[in-house]
Amino acid sequence: MGLVVQKYGGSSVADAEGIKRVAKRIVEAKKNGHQVVVVVSAMGDTTDELIDLAEKVSPMPSGREFDMLLTAGERISMALLAMAIKNLGHSAQSFTGSQAGVITDSVHNKARIIDVTPGRIRTALDEGNIAIVAGFQGVSQDKKDITTLGRGGSDTTAVALAAALDAEVCEIYTDVDGVFTADPRVVKKAKKIDWIAFEDMLELAASGSKVLLHRCVEYARRYDIPIHVRSSFSGLQGTWVSSAPLVRKTQQQGDQKVEQAIISGVAHDTSEAKVTVVGVPDKPGEAAAIFRAIANAEINIDMIVQNVSAATTGLTDISFTLPKTEGRKAIDALEKAKSVIGFESLRYDDQIGKISLVGAGMKTNPGVTAGFFEALTDAGVNIELISTSEIRISVVTRADDVNEAVRAVHSAFGLDSDSDEAVVYGGTGR
Ligand code: ASP
Ligand code: MG
Repeated sequence: MGLVVQKYGGSSVADAEGIKRVAKRIVEAKKNGHQVVVVVSAMGDTTDELIDLAEKVSPMPSGREFDMLLTAGERISMALLAMAIKNLGHSAQSFTGSQAGVITDSVHNKARIIDVTPGRIRTALDEGNIAIVAGFQGVSQDKKDITTLGRGGSDTTAVALAAALDAEVCEIYTDVDGVFTADPRVVKKAKKIDWIAFEDMLELAASGSKVLLHRCVEYARRYDIPIHVRSSFSGLQGTWVSSAPLVRKTQQQGDQKVEQAIISGVAHDTSEAKVTVVGVPDKPGEAAAIFRAIANAEINIDMIVQNVSAATTGLTDISFTLPKTEGRKAIDALEKAKSVIGFESLRYDDQIGKISLVGAGMKTNPGVTAGFFEALTDAGVNIELISTSEIRISVVTRADDVNEAVRAVHSAFGLDSDSDEAVVYGGTGR
């Protein structure tokens, strides 16, 4: 029996009852002979409430203090969880991210983990304790300030600890039974996926699937840590996310093995906005200047589209999508660089949504793209931007059309289950 890392999300520990339920589960794993490290998120919507509170006090709180504030949420749940476990007669100790050895860079609100030195966790385990670690936080290497890893960052904490402690598995407990072929909050007929490869999960996460964070999957793939996503509210097996067996792209059809598209699922995202840089001179260096300005502002972008330039003016438009939360910063950065870049104007649109179809073998199956667009046409959804990769097609539409579009595409690709197996146990989806 090896070491397991279990991560419990905010909805699993939303109240005292939840904390006691989770404590029982953790004790079960310990009784089964495992060494158990638990990573816990803030209770329920605590993080959002702390953010609201900060905004009432100051419109632009300093990154350092903001991080200090937010990490308080996880401190509350870790201590309560340790108390609940002790109450069940088992020994547990809670640790902040800093105490657990989660070392990060110093980019507040979205720090990256650069090292994990879990000496104190090892000692706690060797002494027979269950170790509880506050998720989503660390300490910066240079200034020793408290940092946070960005929203949903507890998953990354869990995988990083699993890698550093050489865990057998990283179990991510959430409020649904695993990874589904679409968000079960939107598609009642979504099906649970039993196994999915890191690559496909990365694409789903990058496309807006919220069940696992992209960074966490990236980390798990790098260190080859299998993730088991499951519900803390049921005893069901969830979804295993791990490296791909070599045979994954071929499926048995009669006696023949044929290469065919295997659709993993449909993801959607309404957290992005679209910036259009209007009237950009169509000459070398322009796109570089635009995206250098964006990069210097530490903003990650998603899709990019450049139009054909109008022959008469030699000017073109470049659109790109980015997280809505970075919208203001991007516009400011571009305005500041306007004289250097030399564009005419900027347009900003945050009423967009993105729908993505993810699966292996798409590039070699031309029918997939056509089928995807036909499903959108049948649902009366207009497409504004398109981007593709080897295993993904994404379109941008009006935000209002997204749910309808997801259901249409999910059905068109035969992903609907016969039973309504998708249960949402908790969470306000806030
Ligand atoms: N509590 C933090 C958040 O809501 C971190 C997490 O839940 O993973 O984003
Ligand atoms: Mg959370």
